Amino acid sequence: MNQTAEKTNLLGMSLPMLQAYFQSMGEKPFRAVQVMKWIHQRGVTEFTAMTDISHSLQQKLQLVAEVKPPKIVEEFLAADGCYKWIVEVASGSRVETVFIPEADRGTLCISSQAGCTLDCSFCATGKQGFNSNLTAAEIIGQLWWANHRLGGFAPPRPHAGKTTRAVSNVVMMGMGEPLLNFDNVMASLSLMMEDNAYGLSKRRVTISTAGVVPAIDRLKDFTDASLAVSLHAPNDELRNQIVPVNRKYPIRELLRSVADYMASLPDKRVPVIEYTLISGVNDHKHLAHELAALLREFPCKINLIPFNPFAQSDYRRPSNNAVNNFRQILQEAGYTVTVRTTRGDDIGAACGQLVGEVADQTRRSERYRRAAADAQAVVPGSNRTFTSADNLAISVDSAQRSI
Ligand code: SF4
Repeated sequence: MNQTAEKTNLLGMSLPMLQAYFQSMGEKPFRAVQVMKWIHQRGVTEFTAMTDISHSLQQKLQLVAEVKPPKIVEEFLAADGCYKWIVEVASGSRVETVFIPEADRGTLCISSQAGCTLDCSFCATGKQGFNSNLTAAEIIGQLWWANHRLGGFAPPRPHAGKTTRAVSNVVMMGMGEPLLNFDNVMASLSLMMEDNAYGLSKRRVTISTAGVVPAIDRLKDFTDASLAVSLHAPNDELRNQIVPVNRKYPIRELLRSVADYMASLPDKRVPVIEYTLISGVNDHKHLAHELAALLREFPCKINLIPFNPFAQSDYRRPSNNAVNNFRQILQEAGYTVTVRTTRGDDIGAACGQLVGEVADQTRRSERYRRAAADAQAVVPGSNRTFTSADNLAISVDSAQRSI
Protein backbone atom coordinates (compact mmCIF):
# COMPACT_ATOMS: atom_id res chain seq x y z
CA MET A 1 0.00 0.00 0.00
CA ASN A 2 1.45 3.35 -1.01
CA GLN A 3 1.27 5.59 2.04
CA THR A 4 2.50 8.64 0.17
CA ALA A 5 -0.40 8.53 -2.30
CA GLU A 6 -3.05 11.17 -1.87
CA LYS A 7 -5.81 10.03 0.44
CA THR A 8 -9.34 9.64 -0.88
CA ASN A 9 -11.72 12.20 0.57
CA LEU A 10 -14.93 10.36 1.51
CA LEU A 11 -16.88 13.55 2.25
CA GLY A 12 -18.29 14.04 -1.25
CA MET A 13 -19.12 10.41 -2.02
CA SER A 14 -22.74 9.50 -2.65
CA LEU A 15 -23.95 6.23 -1.11
CA PRO A 16 -23.36 4.13 -4.26
CA MET A 17 -19.87 5.62 -4.59
CA LEU A 18 -19.07 4.92 -0.96
CA GLN A 19 -20.42 1.37 -1.23
CA ALA A 20 -18.29 0.77 -4.30
CA TYR A 21 -15.30 2.19 -2.44
CA PHE A 22 -15.74 -0.16 0.50
CA GLN A 23 -16.31 -3.10 -1.81
CA SER A 24 -13.07 -2.27 -3.59
CA MET A 25 -11.40 -2.56 -0.17
CA GLY A 26 -12.93 -5.99 0.34
CA GLU A 27 -15.43 -4.65 2.88
CA LYS A 28 -19.18 -5.19 3.07
CA PRO A 29 -21.37 -2.43 1.59
CA PHE A 30 -23.09 -1.80 4.95
CA ARG A 31 -19.83 -0.26 6.13
CA ALA A 32 -20.59 2.59 3.74
CA VAL A 33 -23.85 3.32 5.56
CA GLN A 34 -22.09 3.29 8.93
CA VAL A 35 -19.37 5.67 7.78
CA MET A 36 -21.86 7.90 5.97
CA LYS A 37 -23.90 8.34 9.15
CA TRP A 38 -20.81 9.22 11.15
CA ILE A 39 -19.76 11.84 8.61
CA HIS A 40 -23.05 13.43 7.65
CA GLN A 41 -25.31 12.86 10.64
CA ARG A 42 -22.82 13.19 13.49
CA GLY A 43 -20.21 15.42 11.88
CA VAL A 44 -17.34 13.04 12.71
CA THR A 45 -14.20 13.28 10.57
CA GLU A 46 -11.83 10.99 12.51
CA PHE A 47 -12.11 7.29 11.69
CA THR A 48 -10.91 6.41 15.19
CA ALA A 49 -14.03 8.07 16.63
CA MET A 50 -16.34 5.88 14.52
CA THR A 51 -16.94 3.42 17.33
CA ASP A 52 -19.04 0.82 15.53
CA ILE A 53 -16.24 0.20 13.05
CA SER A 54 -13.60 -2.39 13.85
CA HIS A 55 -10.20 -1.20 14.94
CA SER A 56 -8.56 -2.85 11.94
CA LEU A 57 -10.86 -1.07 9.48
CA GLN A 58 -10.26 2.23 11.25
CA GLN A 59 -6.52 1.70 10.79
CA LYS A 60 -6.97 0.71 7.17
CA LEU A 61 -9.08 3.80 6.45
CA GLN A 62 -6.60 6.10 8.13
CA LEU A 63 -3.95 4.99 5.68
CA VAL A 64 -5.90 5.55 2.49
CA ALA A 65 -8.82 7.85 3.19
CA GLU A 66 -9.83 11.04 4.93
CA VAL A 67 -12.89 13.15 5.64
CA LYS A 68 -11.83 16.65 4.71
CA PRO A 69 -14.27 19.55 4.68
CA PRO A 70 -13.24 22.68 2.78
CA LYS A 71 -11.42 25.40 4.68
CA ILE A 72 -13.54 28.20 6.11
CA VAL A 73 -11.43 31.33 6.09
CA GLU A 74 -13.93 33.86 7.41
CA GLU A 75 -17.28 34.04 9.09
CA PHE A 76 -19.71 36.95 9.28
CA LEU A 77 -22.82 37.08 11.41
CA ALA A 78 -25.48 39.68 10.63
CA ALA A 79 -27.71 41.35 13.17
CA ASP A 80 -30.67 39.49 11.69
CA GLY A 81 -28.99 36.11 12.27
CA CYS A 82 -27.73 35.52 8.72
CA TYR A 83 -24.32 33.93 8.42
CA LYS A 84 -21.90 34.29 5.58
CA TRP A 85 -18.88 32.01 5.33
CA ILE A 86 -15.95 32.47 2.97
CA VAL A 87 -14.83 29.05 1.82
CA GLU A 88 -11.41 28.39 0.34
CA VAL A 89 -11.44 25.63 -2.24
CA ALA A 90 -8.59 23.51 -3.60
CA SER A 91 -7.97 25.76 -6.59
CA GLY A 92 -7.16 28.56 -4.14
CA SER A 93 -10.35 30.42 -5.03
CA ARG A 94 -12.81 31.58 -2.46
CA VAL A 95 -16.54 31.14 -2.64
CA GLU A 96 -19.35 32.01 -0.31
CA THR A 97 -22.01 30.18 1.59
CA VAL A 98 -24.91 32.00 3.18
CA PHE A 99 -27.32 30.84 5.86
CA ILE A 100 -30.66 32.59 6.25
CA PRO A 101 -32.65 31.71 9.38
CA GLU A 102 -36.37 32.26 9.54
CA ALA A 103 -39.00 31.37 12.10
CA ASP A 104 -39.89 28.05 10.52
CA ARG A 105 -36.86 27.19 8.44
CA GLY A 106 -33.17 27.70 7.85
CA THR A 107 -32.03 28.06 4.26
CA LEU A 108 -28.49 27.48 3.11
CA CYS A 109 -27.36 28.99 -0.17
CA ILE A 110 -24.53 26.90 -1.60
CA SER A 111 -21.95 27.68 -4.30
CA SER A 112 -21.07 25.17 -7.00
CA GLN A 113 -18.33 26.95 -8.96
CA ALA A 114 -15.69 29.57 -8.27
CA GLY A 115 -16.73 32.19 -10.78
CA CYS A 116 -18.98 31.45 -13.72
CA THR A 117 -18.71 31.28 -17.49
CA LEU A 118 -22.22 32.50 -18.26
CA ASP A 119 -21.72 36.22 -17.66
CA CYS A 120 -25.30 37.22 -16.94
CA SER A 121 -25.36 40.98 -17.21
CA PHE A 122 -26.73 41.67 -13.72
CA CYS A 123 -24.46 39.23 -11.89
CA ALA A 124 -21.28 40.09 -10.08
CA THR A 125 -20.05 36.49 -10.12
CA GLY A 126 -20.29 36.49 -13.90
CA LYS A 127 -18.01 39.53 -13.99
CA GLN A 128 -15.03 37.63 -12.67
CA GLY A 129 -15.00 34.86 -15.25
CA PHE A 130 -14.64 31.18 -14.47
CA ASN A 131 -12.04 29.84 -12.10
CA SER A 132 -12.88 26.26 -11.14
CA ASN A 133 -15.58 23.71 -10.53
CA LEU A 134 -16.03 22.82 -6.88
CA THR A 135 -15.57 19.16 -6.03
CA ALA A 136 -18.48 17.24 -4.54
CA ALA A 137 -16.68 17.41 -1.19
CA GLU A 138 -16.44 21.18 -1.50
CA ILE A 139 -20.12 21.46 -2.34
CA ILE A 140 -21.53 19.12 0.31
CA GLY A 141 -18.82 20.40 2.63
CA GLN A 142 -20.69 23.72 2.78
CA LEU A 143 -23.73 21.90 4.19
CA TRP A 144 -21.50 19.84 6.48
CA TRP A 145 -19.90 23.02 7.76
CA ALA A 146 -23.20 24.82 8.35
CA ASN A 147 -24.47 21.87 10.37
CA HIS A 148 -21.21 21.70 12.28
CA ARG A 149 -21.26 25.40 13.02
CA LEU A 150 -24.95 25.69 13.82
CA GLY A 151 -25.22 22.65 16.07
CA GLY A 152 -26.94 20.52 13.45
CA PHE A 153 -24.91 17.43 14.39
CA ALA A 154 -25.81 17.53 18.07
CA PRO A 155 -28.03 14.63 19.17
CA PRO A 156 -31.63 15.74 19.70
CA ARG A 157 -32.27 16.61 23.34
CA PRO A 158 -34.70 14.30 25.10
CA HIS A 159 -38.10 15.87 25.76
CA ALA A 160 -37.15 18.78 23.50
CA GLY A 161 -40.47 18.51 21.69
CA LYS A 162 -40.49 19.03 17.94
CA THR A 163 -36.94 19.59 16.81
CA THR A 164 -36.30 21.86 13.88
CA ARG A 165 -33.09 21.45 11.94
CA ALA A 166 -30.64 24.28 11.67
CA VAL A 167 -30.56 23.80 7.90
CA SER A 168 -33.94 22.69 6.61
CA ASN A 169 -33.63 23.95 3.02
CA VAL A 170 -30.81 24.12 0.51
CA VAL A 171 -30.72 26.25 -2.60
CA MET A 172 -28.02 25.83 -5.23
CA MET A 173 -28.09 29.58 -5.87
CA GLY A 174 -24.63 30.56 -4.76
CA MET A 175 -21.75 31.23 -7.09
CA GLY A 176 -21.73 29.43 -10.40
CA GLU A 177 -24.12 27.58 -12.67
CA PRO A 178 -24.79 24.26 -10.92
CA LEU A 179 -25.63 22.40 -14.11
CA LEU A 180 -22.21 23.20 -15.59
CA ASN A 181 -20.68 21.22 -12.73
CA PHE A 182 -23.14 18.43 -13.26
CA ASP A 183 -21.55 15.31 -11.77
CA ASN A 184 -20.31 16.95 -8.59
CA VAL A 185 -23.61 18.74 -8.05
CA MET A 186 -25.59 15.52 -8.61
CA ALA A 187 -23.43 13.62 -6.10
CA SER A 188 -23.96 16.44 -3.59
CA LEU A 189 -27.72 16.56 -4.16
CA SER A 190 -27.97 12.85 -3.58
CA LEU A 191 -26.21 13.27 -0.22
CA MET A 192 -28.50 16.14 0.75
CA MET A 193 -31.55 13.93 0.15
CA GLU A 194 -30.05 10.61 1.33
CA ASP A 195 -31.71 9.25 4.48
CA ASN A 196 -28.35 8.05 5.77
CA ALA A 197 -26.90 11.53 5.32
CA TYR A 198 -28.91 14.77 5.61
CA GLY A 199 -32.30 13.38 4.58
CA LEU A 200 -33.69 16.63 3.23
CA SER A 201 -36.95 16.48 1.31
CA LYS A 202 -36.77 16.91 -2.46
CA ARG A 203 -39.09 19.88 -2.03
CA ARG A 204 -36.51 21.54 0.17
CA VAL A 205 -33.55 21.16 -2.16
CA THR A 206 -33.57 23.50 -5.14
CA ILE A 207 -31.30 23.76 -8.15
CA SER A 208 -31.25 27.18 -9.73
CA THR A 209 -30.21 27.31 -13.37
CA ALA A 210 -29.74 30.02 -15.97
CA GLY A 211 -30.99 27.52 -18.54
CA VAL A 212 -28.43 24.96 -19.67
CA VAL A 213 -30.97 22.96 -21.65
CA PRO A 214 -29.02 19.74 -22.36
CA ALA A 215 -28.24 19.45 -18.64
CA ILE A 216 -31.88 20.05 -17.67
CA ASP A 217 -32.80 17.31 -20.13
CA ARG A 218 -30.47 14.92 -18.26
CA LEU A 219 -31.64 15.91 -14.79
CA LYS A 220 -34.49 13.43 -14.42
CA ASP A 221 -32.07 10.51 -14.65
CA PHE A 222 -30.11 11.78 -11.65
CA THR A 223 -32.33 13.68 -9.22
CA ASP A 224 -35.84 14.79 -8.36
CA ALA A 225 -34.83 18.02 -6.64
CA SER A 226 -36.89 21.17 -7.13
CA LEU A 227 -36.01 23.62 -9.86
CA ALA A 228 -35.74 27.39 -10.14
CA VAL A 229 -35.11 29.01 -13.51
CA SER A 230 -33.43 32.38 -13.92
CA LEU A 231 -35.54 33.85 -16.69
CA HIS A 232 -35.22 37.63 -16.20
CA ALA A 233 -36.87 38.53 -19.53
CA PRO A 234 -40.03 37.52 -21.39
CA ASN A 235 -38.54 37.50 -24.91
CA ASP A 236 -35.37 36.27 -26.57
CA GLU A 237 -34.21 39.68 -27.72
CA LEU A 238 -34.04 41.04 -24.19
CA ARG A 239 -32.95 37.78 -22.59
CA ASN A 240 -30.05 37.48 -25.05
CA GLN A 241 -28.70 40.66 -23.48
CA ILE A 242 -29.33 39.78 -19.84
CA VAL A 243 -28.63 36.02 -19.90
CA PRO A 244 -26.25 35.39 -22.82
CA VAL A 245 -26.67 31.60 -22.64
CA ASN A 246 -30.11 32.33 -24.10
CA ARG A 247 -28.46 32.79 -27.51
CA LYS A 248 -27.66 29.10 -27.39
CA TYR A 249 -30.79 27.88 -25.62
CA PRO A 250 -33.68 30.26 -26.31
CA ILE A 251 -36.72 30.65 -24.09
CA ARG A 252 -39.06 28.21 -25.86
CA GLU A 253 -36.45 25.45 -25.70
CA LEU A 254 -35.75 26.25 -22.06
CA LEU A 255 -39.40 26.16 -21.05
CA ARG A 256 -39.90 22.91 -22.95
CA SER A 257 -37.02 21.27 -21.12
CA VAL A 258 -38.15 22.56 -17.70
CA ALA A 259 -41.70 21.35 -18.38
CA ASP A 260 -40.35 17.90 -19.32
CA TYR A 261 -38.38 17.70 -16.09
CA MET A 262 -41.33 18.76 -13.96
CA ALA A 263 -43.53 16.21 -15.76
CA SER A 264 -41.02 13.48 -14.90
CA LEU A 265 -41.43 14.07 -11.17
CA PRO A 266 -43.80 11.69 -9.41
CA ASP A 267 -45.35 14.42 -7.27
CA LYS A 268 -47.01 17.65 -8.29
CA ARG A 269 -44.49 20.47 -8.19
CA VAL A 270 -43.96 23.57 -10.24
CA PRO A 271 -40.73 25.43 -10.95
CA VAL A 272 -40.01 28.90 -9.65
CA ILE A 273 -39.33 31.49 -12.32
CA GLU A 274 -36.75 33.94 -11.03
CA TYR A 275 -36.97 37.44 -12.47
CA THR A 276 -34.46 40.04 -11.38
CA LEU A 277 -36.05 43.46 -11.90
CA ILE A 278 -33.56 45.99 -13.26
CA SER A 279 -34.62 49.59 -13.47
CA GLY A 280 -35.31 50.71 -17.03
CA VAL A 281 -34.17 47.38 -18.48
CA ASN A 282 -36.79 44.72 -17.78
CA ASP A 283 -39.16 46.30 -15.27
CA HIS A 284 -41.59 47.94 -17.71
CA LYS A 285 -45.28 47.17 -17.35
CA HIS A 286 -45.55 45.88 -20.91
CA LEU A 287 -42.89 43.30 -20.09
CA ALA A 288 -44.95 42.09 -17.13
CA HIS A 289 -47.88 41.58 -19.52
CA GLU A 290 -45.56 39.81 -21.97
CA LEU A 291 -44.26 37.56 -19.19
CA ALA A 292 -47.80 36.71 -18.11
CA ALA A 293 -48.63 35.76 -21.70
CA LEU A 294 -45.44 33.75 -22.16
CA LEU A 295 -46.08 31.63 -19.08
CA ARG A 296 -49.81 31.16 -19.65
CA GLU A 297 -49.45 27.47 -20.50
CA PHE A 298 -46.58 26.92 -18.09
CA PRO A 299 -47.49 26.12 -14.47
CA CYS A 300 -45.04 27.97 -12.24
CA LYS A 301 -44.57 30.44 -9.44
CA ILE A 302 -42.77 33.70 -9.99
CA ASN A 303 -40.19 35.24 -7.73
CA LEU A 304 -39.32 38.89 -8.36
CA ILE A 305 -35.91 40.05 -7.18
CA PRO A 306 -35.27 43.80 -7.12
CA PHE A 307 -31.72 44.22 -8.44
CA ASN A 308 -29.13 45.03 -5.82
CA PRO A 309 -26.53 47.41 -7.24
CA PHE A 310 -22.82 46.56 -7.03
CA ALA A 311 -19.68 48.39 -7.98
CA GLN A 312 -19.02 46.92 -11.41
CA SER A 313 -22.53 47.39 -12.72
CA ASP A 314 -24.35 50.39 -14.14
CA TYR A 315 -27.71 48.78 -13.50
CA ARG A 316 -30.01 50.39 -10.96
CA ARG A 317 -32.46 49.05 -8.46
CA PRO A 318 -36.10 49.44 -9.56
CA SER A 319 -38.38 51.78 -7.65
CA ASN A 320 -40.86 50.26 -5.21
CA ASN A 321 -43.54 51.51 -7.52
CA ALA A 322 -42.13 49.60 -10.48
CA VAL A 323 -41.81 46.43 -8.41
CA ASN A 324 -45.38 46.73 -7.15
CA ASN A 325 -46.76 47.39 -10.62
CA PHE A 326 -44.91 44.40 -12.05
CA ARG A 327 -46.14 42.18 -9.26
CA GLN A 328 -49.70 43.39 -9.55
CA ILE A 329 -49.89 42.72 -13.27
CA LEU A 330 -48.69 39.16 -12.76
CA GLN A 331 -50.99 38.57 -9.82
CA GLU A 332 -53.96 39.87 -11.75
CA ALA A 333 -53.02 37.42 -14.49
CA GLY A 334 -53.41 34.66 -11.90
CA TYR A 335 -49.81 33.93 -10.89
CA THR A 336 -48.49 33.32 -7.40
CA VAL A 337 -45.83 36.00 -7.08
CA THR A 338 -43.32 36.64 -4.33
CA VAL A 339 -40.92 39.54 -4.02
CA ARG A 340 -37.60 38.74 -2.46
CA THR A 341 -36.68 40.77 0.57
CA THR A 342 -33.16 41.60 1.57
CA ARG A 343 -31.41 39.98 4.52
CA GLY A 344 -27.93 40.19 5.97
CA ASP A 345 -27.30 43.76 4.85
CA ASP A 346 -24.79 44.52 7.59
CA ILE A 347 -22.46 41.68 6.59
CA GLY A 348 -22.63 42.49 2.90
CA ALA A 349 -24.72 39.41 2.40
CA ALA A 350 -27.66 40.93 0.62
CA CYS A 351 -28.36 40.14 -3.00
CA GLY A 352 -25.48 41.28 -5.12
CA GLN A 353 -23.47 42.42 -2.13
CA LEU A 354 -21.58 39.32 -1.08
CA VAL A 355 -17.90 39.98 -1.39
CA GLY A 356 -15.07 37.52 -1.78
CA GLU A 357 -11.85 37.03 -3.62
CA VAL A 358 -10.73 34.52 -6.17
CA ALA A 359 -7.43 33.98 -7.83
CA ASP A 360 -8.68 33.72 -11.36
CA GLN A 361 -6.93 35.77 -13.99
CA THR A 362 -9.45 35.69 -16.76
CA ARG A 363 -9.68 38.54 -19.19
CA ARG A 364 -13.25 39.17 -18.24
CA SER A 365 -12.31 39.52 -14.61
CA GLU A 366 -9.49 41.85 -15.50
CA ARG A 367 -11.73 43.94 -17.72
CA TYR A 368 -14.28 44.46 -15.01
CA ARG A 369 -11.64 44.96 -12.38
CA ARG A 370 -10.11 47.72 -14.46
CA ALA A 371 -13.49 49.30 -15.04
CA ALA A 372 -14.17 49.16 -11.34
CA ALA A 373 -10.78 50.65 -10.57
CA ASP A 374 -11.45 53.43 -13.05
CA ALA A 375 -14.63 54.13 -11.21
CA GLN A 376 -12.66 54.01 -7.95
CA ALA A 377 -14.97 51.29 -6.86
CA VAL A 378 -12.52 48.57 -5.89
CA VAL A 379 -12.48 47.72 -2.22
CA PRO A 380 -9.22 49.05 -0.73
CA GLY A 381 -6.71 46.27 -0.12
CA SER A 382 -8.52 43.80 -2.32
CA ASN A 383 -7.35 42.88 -5.79
CA ARG A 384 -10.80 41.76 -6.75
CA THR A 385 -14.27 42.57 -5.71
CA PHE A 386 -17.25 40.57 -6.75
CA THR A 387 -20.48 39.45 -5.36
CA SER A 388 -21.36 35.87 -5.04
CA ALA A 389 -24.44 34.13 -6.09
CA ASP A 390 -26.29 34.75 -9.25
CA ASN A 391 -27.34 37.95 -7.57
CA LEU A 392 -29.95 35.75 -6.04
CA ALA A 393 -27.93 34.25 -3.28
CA ILE A 394 -29.60 35.52 -0.23
CA SER A 395 -33.09 36.39 0.76
CA VAL A 396 -34.17 33.13 -0.73
CA ASP A 397 -36.92 33.04 1.82
CA SER A 398 -39.68 34.08 -0.49
CA ALA A 399 -38.47 31.79 -3.25
CA GLN A 400 -38.41 28.86 -0.91
CA ARG A 401 -41.73 29.69 0.60
CA SER A 402 -43.29 29.53 -2.80
CA ILE A 403 -41.92 26.10 -3.66
S1 SF4 B 1 -26.45 34.59 -12.60
FE1 SF4 B 1 -25.72 32.51 -12.13
S2 SF4 B 1 -25.40 31.64 -14.17
FE2 SF4 B 1 -25.50 33.87 -14.48
S3 SF4 B 1 -23.35 34.57 -14.38
FE3 SF4 B 1 -24.22 34.69 -12.30
S4 SF4 B 1 -23.63 32.78 -11.30
FE4 SF4 B 1 -23.43 32.49 -13.51
